[in-house]
This record gives sequence, C-alpha cells and structure tokens, in this order.
Amino acid sequence: MPFSSLGLSAALLRAVAAKAWLAPTAIQQAVLAPALQGCDLLASAQTGSGKTAAFALPLLQQFEAAVPQSPRRLRALVLVPTRELSTQVGEEIRSLGQHLPRALKVAIVFGGVSINPQMLRLRGGADIMVATPGRLLDLLDHNALTLSGVATLVLDEADRLLDLGFAEELTRILARLPQQRQNLFFSATFPPAVQTLAKTLLHEPVRIEVAPEPQTQPDIEQRVIEVDAGQRTQLLRHLIAQNHWSRVLVFVATKHAAEMVADKLRKARINAEPFHGELSQGKRTQVLADFKASRLKVVIATDVAARGLDIAQLPVVVNFDLPRSALDYIHRIGRTGRAGERGVALSFVSASSDAHWRLIEKRQGLGLVREQVAGFEAIKLNPAPGSDATTTLPGTGGIKGLRPSKKDKLRAAAARGQ
Ligand code: AMP
Repeated sequence: MPFSSLGLSAALLRAVAAKAWLAPTAIQQAVLAPALQGCDLLASAQTGSGKTAAFALPLLQQFEAAVPQSPRRLRALVLVPTRELSTQVGEEIRSLGQHLPRALKVAIVFGGVSINPQMLRLRGGADIMVATPGRLLDLLDHNALTLSGVATLVLDEADRLLDLGFAEELTRILARLPQQRQNLFFSATFPPAVQTLAKTLLHEPVRIEVAPEPQTQPDIEQRVIEVDAGQRTQLLRHLIAQNHWSRVLVFVATKHAAEMVADKLRKARINAEPFHGELSQGKRTQVLADFKASRLKVVIATDVAARGLDIAQLPVVVNFDLPRSALDYIHRIGRTGRAGERGVALSFVSASSDAHWRLIEKRQGLGLVREQVAGFEAIKLNPAPGSDATTTLPGTGGIKGLRPSKKDKLRAAAARGQ
C-alpha cells in the first residue's frame, strides 16, 4: 500500500517522499485512517515500528486543515517520558511538517535545563508541543501556556511514563486539558497500571495491534559472552578492534561505570564518551550528535539512553553490565537492528551476574549458547537447567566474586577426564 492511498495531504506526501520512505509501516497503515477521522486510539507499538510518524502525520494534517489562530493556540500535545525522546519526536514532527503551506511551530520542552529560554520560545504560542510531564507542569505553573485549545493528546510510550513515576503529573495535566479532545495512546506493553490509565483516558478507542512486518521486525542477533568482570573492558577493546565496529553503544549500570569505562577506552585511544543523566543537557546533545555523525565510535551509557533513541546504523549494542529487567533488556537491544537493518546485541556475563542473566533469558524465552573469547576465558558458570552449553566447576560456578585458580581449573579438567 503506498502512502498516497492513505488520504494524506500533498505537503505531507512530499515530506514522506523526501525521507525516501517507500511505504507506510504496519502501524502507520493501521493508525492513519482512524486517527485522521478523529477517533481515540489504543495502539500497541514497538520501538522502531515507525510509530512517531504514525501519530505525527495525523497531527500535521489536522493542523493544516485548522483555521489559523493569532496568536497561535496549542492544538496538539505529545507527552513523552524522556528528554531525548522529546527532541527526537519534536524533530520528526518538524521535518514532516516542513512543506506545509503555513509555517508550523513545534515546541520541544523538557526538564534539566533552564526554564527561561523555553518560556521565551513559547511567547507567541506554539501549534504542537512535545513535552516531558514535569517540565510541562512547571511551564503551566509559570502561566507560560494554556492547554485549553488542545484538540489532540498523544501519550507516547505510556508504559515508560508510568514506570518513571509520572502518574501524578499525568493526572494534573489531564485535569487542565479540555474534556472534548482526541486521545492517541501508544505503549509497548500493557501492564495493569497502563490499562487503567487507558480506560480513564480513552473514549471507545480503536484498538491497534499489528504484528511486526518482516521488513520492520528487528533483525537482532543476540549473543552472550562469559567473561570475568575485571576483564570486560579489555574484552570490549578486543572486540571493537577485531570486528572493526564503526559504532558501538555500550550499556553499564551506573554513571560511575560509564565514566570509568569511557576513560579506559580513551586511554587506549578509542574515541569514547559517557552518556548518563548527570551530564548537562548540552553535553548529552553533543555526545549524541557526535555519535550520529560518526565523530564518536563508542558511547557508554546508562539506561537513560535505552529508550526511544533512534540512531540509524547502529550495528552493535553491548550489555557490559546486564540490564535490571527483561523489559530493559528489550529496550536496550532495540537500539540496534532498527528500520530493517541488521544488528548484534552482546551481553557480558560473569560469575556475579550469572543468575541474573538466567532470569532475563527465562523471561525472554532465550536459550543462547554461552560463548567464550580466546584469551578472555572466564570462570565456567553454572549452565542453565537442561543446557549443556557450559560446564560447571565444582564449588565455583555462579558464586559471586569467586574465580577458580589454575589448580581449580586443572582439578576440574581432571574430573571431566581431560
Ligand atoms: P520510530 O518507531 O518512530 O522510532 O521509527 C523508527 C525509524 O523508522 C525511524 O528512523 C523512522 O525515521 C523510520 N521510519 C518511519 N516510518 C518509516 C517508513 N514508512 N519507511 C521507512 N522508515 C520509516
């Protein structure tokens, strides 16, 4: 099905063509018609599915059809969980709206930066706003905008909004929106809290759940490598050199680890930067811009970067530290293999993280064969029940911090009859 059969305006078709998108993705095909008709939507949308354009195009078409107001009145509000996502979504809306006959003003607001410039930019109003909930409330408290003209509300990554504890902020924002409005609700998962929010928010929603298409289904090769915790940086360096990776996103558990690993890589003359929530917004924006422009080879990130980021041609994601949950695992590895490209997701597992990895594997229904890299062989860990992928050394496997000595290894080899 071509974009031209979806009832989009000439200006929007031109923007889509400029992006060289050949056909709408499944979520776009399913969302566009009911959204353009003004229905409420409840869409199950995976990251990388093209969901941003799925809601952006109807918002833009509605803007194009609306009677111009002076000063501008905010017509559409998109709530997102993170600063990075607000910038990404806002920029996609701007680029899709660039050929509209009337100039569009998209306001992008998020916390962690001074509020004054954002207030100044809101003078004269805005047509569409992409916001994180906390900063939006700050702006409302400063009377920097009014929501009384909002005709469409989009909740993007609703599950993440609730995960991050935005429930109360959402309630306060919803109370300030007009009763009569269209609601577009996007979420990757539907735990009970998300279902409750959807029930209170939506009026006879059209439910959309699309099976990922072959060309949009992420093509991610998942691998797991056993390595002693203290050897991980060395192994990472080795893998980067050996595989000639052009760009690698490495996930760690803490800000401190991000700084430390980046530092070690830089000392080894690998162009690496940390990326975490305590960096200034300016620095974060710079790191991402450098990474996207290939001026930077490795980014060492905390989970702040796991959601929503869209870095084209990111061939490899490495879980240097394992994610806290199976859900975080999905979000992390979803940074690679986007928009039909192939990706590799590597997870490092050591004695202390062995049990946690098995939990993630179980939740994900994975049964990956554990690999070892020559020169970086780790303690042999406990195999998953029923798996013969690894062997266990007596008294050592899976015990936190315990590494077998040479003697232990020799004894174990003898016990196996080698
Ligand atoms: P999203 O799920 O919105 O984060 O989009 C994932 C990626 O798919 C982004 O890089 C979009 O620019 C890209 N994209 C969105 N729609 C299409 C399409 N119809 N054809 C090809 N790529 C698309």
